[in-house]
Amino acid sequence: MSQLTDALRSMPYWLVSLFLLVENLMIFALALWVGQMMRRRFAARPVAHPPKAVDAVELSLVISTLLLNTAVTIAGFWLWRKGIVQFREDTGWHALLDVLILLVGMDLAMYILHRIAHIRWIFPILHSSHHRYENPRPLTLFVLNPAEALSFGVLWLAIISLYDASWLGMSIYLVLNVAFGTIGHLGIEPFPDGLKKAPILKYLSTSTFHAQHHQSVHHNFGFYTLIWDQLFGTLAPRYQEDFGKLPAPDPVKLT
Ligand SMILES: [Zn+2]
Ligand SMILES: [Zn+2]
Repeated sequence: MSQLTDALRSMPYWLVSLFLLVENLMIFALALWVGQMMRRRFAARPVAHPPKAVDAVELSLVISTLLLNTAVTIAGFWLWRKGIVQFREDTGWHALLDVLILLVGMDLAMYILHRIAHIRWIFPILHSSHHRYENPRPLTLFVLNPAEALSFGVLWLAIISLYDASWLGMSIYLVLNVAFGTIGHLGIEPFPDGLKKAPILKYLSTSTFHAQHHQSVHHNFGFYTLIWDQLFGTLAPRYQEDFGKLPAPDPVKLT
């Protein structure tokens, strides 16, 4: 591990940037590929209507998100070299606890940021592009206003600057982050109906949960869990009844 970190510390920035661009492109390709496979596998359980054909605006926003995500990753690397961001090297229970701390902490921080993004005058600057698409598909995860992509990135850098997580805990968290984001934009529900009543698991975010947010912007602001929406009274009242179901076509919206 120390040999790897030594090599990373001495690598020229152009090479680091190239690696991190390729890394971000691979994460994007993997999320799309797994997402498309799941859409086919669970096609019988749609929770959103079929999306329109991909348009040029959508594609340009995806490209800008990928470039900004890469820039944020490079900034994180720079902070790590400066010693502002530090990682532990342990792999035991504390590393697993990191996953829980990062998931719950980031879920709360992103819930608050998401509520702010829906304030009328902030919405067009921060979040309107993502909501142009009422019927999500895996690509929608990457359709963000540039300011939104950056604000997520800055929030993440702030959290890892304040909290010294382990390499292992942070890596598991980052995988889960992409997994939850992809699940939220599948447009189909891969989880069985039993999940909505299962102890603990019922608090996890699902495809239905985030698809409902794309159709009803006043509900379901959480990313990984339902706990903050339940606590602050923003969970869609029909979340359980409509779990795994196709919403009524426009203009009837979930209330
Ligand atoms: Zn979304
Ligand atoms: Zn939103």
